[in-house]
Amino acid sequence: MSCEYGGKTHKGIYITSRNDMAVVKLSSGYNIGVPPSSCTCIEQTVPSTPRSRVVNNTPGLPDLSIVSTGGTIASRIDYRTGSVTSQFDASDILVAIPELAQIANYRTLPLAAILSENMTPAIWQELARAVHAEIRDGATGVIVTHGTDTMAYSAAALSFMIDTPVPIVFVGSQRSADRPSSDNAMNAVCAAAAATSDLGEVAVVMHATTSDDTCAIHRGTRVRKMHTSRRNAFQSVGIPPIGSVAFPSRTVTLTPDAVKRGTHTLALHDNLEPHCALLQFYPGMTPDLLRAYEGYKGLVLAGTGLGHVSTLLIPAIKKLIEAGTIVVMTSQCMHGRVCDRVYDTGRDLLNTGVIEGGDMLPEAALVKLMWVLGNVKDKKNAAEMMQADLKGELNRRSAHGL
Ligand code: GLU
Repeated sequence: MSCEYGGKTHKGIYITSRNDMAVVKLSSGYNIGVPPSSCTCIEQTVPSTPRSRVVNNTPGLPDLSIVSTGGTIASRIDYRTGSVTSQFDASDILVAIPELAQIANYRTLPLAAILSENMTPAIWQELARAVHAEIRDGATGVIVTHGTDTMAYSAAALSFMIDTPVPIVFVGSQRSADRPSSDNAMNAVCAAAAATSDLGEVAVVMHATTSDDTCAIHRGTRVRKMHTSRRNAFQSVGIPPIGSVAFPSRTVTLTPDAVKRGTHTLALHDNLEPHCALLQFYPGMTPDLLRAYEGYKGLVLAGTGLGHVSTLLIPAIKKLIEAGTIVVMTSQCMHGRVCDRVYDTGRDLLNTGVIEGGDMLPEAALVKLMWVLGNVKDKKNAAEMMQADLKGELNRRSAHGL
């Protein structure tokens, strides 16, 4: 592709389109965004919605799709720089972990090769469309390989964007394949087992213990990365895990609460309103900070305890709400639910129109707010949806001890 832009000719390969701009990879390795009208096609282009291809086809095995997005599970050491880079795609993962071929047939789709701190709502939308297309075209389960840092956000995003009759399993690894303690192979095998199980919802499957004996199956809207480097970093929050996979037997056990295969009919709801934010309160936060959120459609606050921020911030929050921003209160506490009716700060917040977020994780609440505001324009309906349990993200009552 050759693009005339900014008085220069840029030659490269068309990658995708974002915000009405064509993203072109130059031979230097850099990407540029240019208006599509400035470009002419001079060589083969990469389609913006790539389709999966079949990698193995053994009669009698279930048909899974692996959609790769990057992260440590798809990475190895770059001996030039000494750092870990995300280089593998879904097909490489199959070659690197031959045991996967005993479990299923696979189609593979390399959607992205990014570290997950670079994930965006626009890529969640591409991912949701790709996963939906795989299921529509016959996949009986989908594995999404993903960096662990923001995997919980993406799992929550797909939970809201897809009604799925089959398992959609996110998996990653904390340690890259070249390290003796890598968790990539066991996690991938557990994910494939979960993807062929009776599960019918979006889940995260990762090491459950420090040993190589069990993976936990976590609901996509109730999971968090709790440790920077341990292999058992992921934990369910507010509910127990919805299942487990024993290793090496690959025996999957689902709890009665897990949504079962076939419960839902496949549907895609891929609208998102990305102009939403998540803000963690801290003592000493000043109201001027909230000015940065003027014009935002939604704001999730991670308040203290039962859902509080300093009284000094309340007029600024009121101003945001009066200008049309939906503000949802969650808690920095890992467990429990917000209740803004106990202390006067909380009552003042409710009086300004802040919505209580129940026991939703702040990050799940952010993704939900993007999804709700992408689909519902009426503010009252949006507020009601934020207080309803849509995909297991909000418990009506907190279970004892959780
Ligand atoms: N920060 C990177 C990511 O989340 C690497 C961490 C990982 O994959 O575990 O993609």
